[in-house]
Amino acid sequence: MSPLLTNRSMFEAGALVEGQDVLEFGTGTRTELGGILDILGQDPAIEIVPLLAAQASCGGPLESGLWHQLHDRMIEALRAQEPVDAVIISLHGSTLAEDDDDCCGTLLASIRAQVGPRVPIAATLDMHGNPTAQMTQAADALVAYKTYPHHDFVERGQQAARIAIGAATGEISPVVATVSAPMNLRSLPLMEELIEEGVSLESDGAALCCSIMPTHPYLDVPDFRVLSAVVVTNGDRDAAVAIGKRLITQAWNQRDRTTTESRPLTPLPDALALVRSMPPGTVVIADPNDAVTGGFPGDCPALIGTLLENRVTDPTCHILTDPTFVERALQAGIGGRVSGPLGGTWGGDRYRPIEVDATVVTLSDGSIQKSREPMPGHLEVSNRSMGPTAVVRIEPAVTVVVTSVPVMSTEGTVYRSVGIEPYDYRIVSTKSVNQQRFHYTGAAGFIDLDGPGWGSTAGDYAWRKRDPAQSYPLNQFEGADIEDLMTIAYAPPSL
Ligand SMILES: [Zn+2]
Repeated sequence: MSPLLTNRSMFEAGALVEGQDVLEFGTGTRTELGGILDILGQDPAIEIVPLLAAQASCGGPLESGLWHQLHDRMIEALRAQEPVDAVIISLHGSTLAEDDDDCCGTLLASIRAQVGPRVPIAATLDMHGNPTAQMTQAADALVAYKTYPHHDFVERGQQAARIAIGAATGEISPVVATVSAPMNLRSLPLMEELIEEGVSLESDGAALCCSIMPTHPYLDVPDFRVLSAVVVTNGDRDAAVAIGKRLITQAWNQRDRTTTESRPLTPLPDALALVRSMPPGTVVIADPNDAVTGGFPGDCPALIGTLLENRVTDPTCHILTDPTFVERALQAGIGGRVSGPLGGTWGGDRYRPIEVDATVVTLSDGSIQKSREPMPGHLEVSNRSMGPTAVVRIEPAVTVVVTSVPVMSTEGTVYRSVGIEPYDYRIVSTKSVNQQRFHYTGAAGFIDLDGPGWGSTAGDYAWRKRDPAQSYPLNQFEGADIEDLMTIAYAPPSL
């Protein structure tokens, strides 16, 4: 769990728009919302009633006051527009607040309570979301990404919209079931095979939608699903459950692949030697244990510290969250010097600040110049701004983009927005897990770092609401029958 709560300024750096402004915000974008609006806009008989768009970069729990405000605004806006024929909503699926472990479930349940049992509700989800019983029971359709790194935002929005329209017009009667097992799916090939299987069930007509959801492993909530198959069928709940069970059993029967096929992380001290062994060009070093895409603060400076200690002279550039350092850079002005601690603000006993002597190169409001290159992707659904931002240089060859809020740094746009061309550098670091592999198509190599951070398995993790040892492979479940390990959720038949 990230120690940094998500607050209003993080939403303001992402999006917080209501009513008709939602159309302007979403239309034509490579997002789920863009896909939903695309399909709805094709039928002149459909009146689109936009309610609210609120998005922030991945992060820690929402401040409770902010969460209640957003929830109430959404439900009030819906109430004001009733009656409606269908509700389509784009969610992440694992949003939680200080006082709510299942914000998406709460929101879907409130929408259900508002519109009643007959109005279809379809939601899109990140495949790393947590499809809780509450979510499954409130929705008619849950539609998760089928790609990792994720890039099928538009397609999933379109799919959810088609299901909702079909349900609203009475052509189909979608029902959703979620079948889960306590198994960490760490093998990408196995995940892709399961997704493929789901896609073929959709093309055969056996399912309207079939999603494989390996939930973010660091989510600390009581109803933690670990691995789920979320299946939407046309009116056949038993078939949805049966398909889900089959896919989960298929995964379980190959569970040894979760250890033999997981990608190894490189210990921080070994990363520099690994870079030297790689061909000329730009090496992208991801820092998954402090990944903003995984909800962490993005403020661990350990890689920068190691480069400085080793006096690395090849140019390297990095991104780091440190609002206090940015304030000091603003005071120093362009060309000024800032000495003292950098990063580590939220590191606790996991990581500390490093001492630097930096020169301020540029200062800006941190607006992100969104681009579609080299491929459309995640930035469309995260920040519009990094907050006040300072680019600083630390001798001999380290350049750091210091931001005021955590920023998804999976593509070069964040660097280019402050005048840095990442391919001019030997090392570019990203606070991400996998998405950088999709965007940095011109990289000479990729390294996944095993550095300190809230995602590191080293040391004790502050688990409060569940025991991570209760999933495979930490628990081998010797002799257990997968049927007994599965949990199943679906809406009550009254819906
Ligand atoms: Zn994801």
